[in-house]
Amino acid sequence: MRACPSCGRPAETRGEAPHAPFCSARCRLIDLGSWLDEAYRIPAETAEGTTPGELDARDEP
Ligand SMILES: [Zn+2]
Repeated sequence: MRACPSCGRPAETRGEAPHAPFCSARCRLIDLGSWLDEAYRIPAETAEGTTPGELDARDEP
């Protein structure tokens, strides 16, 4: 048994555990949701910082 990465409660991690390493489907979705939130946030910031004005210039007629 190890702690669920989402809620910290003991989670079943043996082969038959359907939601390993999480304790439940709900915790798995919560963790996936927060991961996606981070994944969307990071590219949005870097795209703005690495190409200043380039995307805007391409859209202008
Ligand atoms: Zn959990």
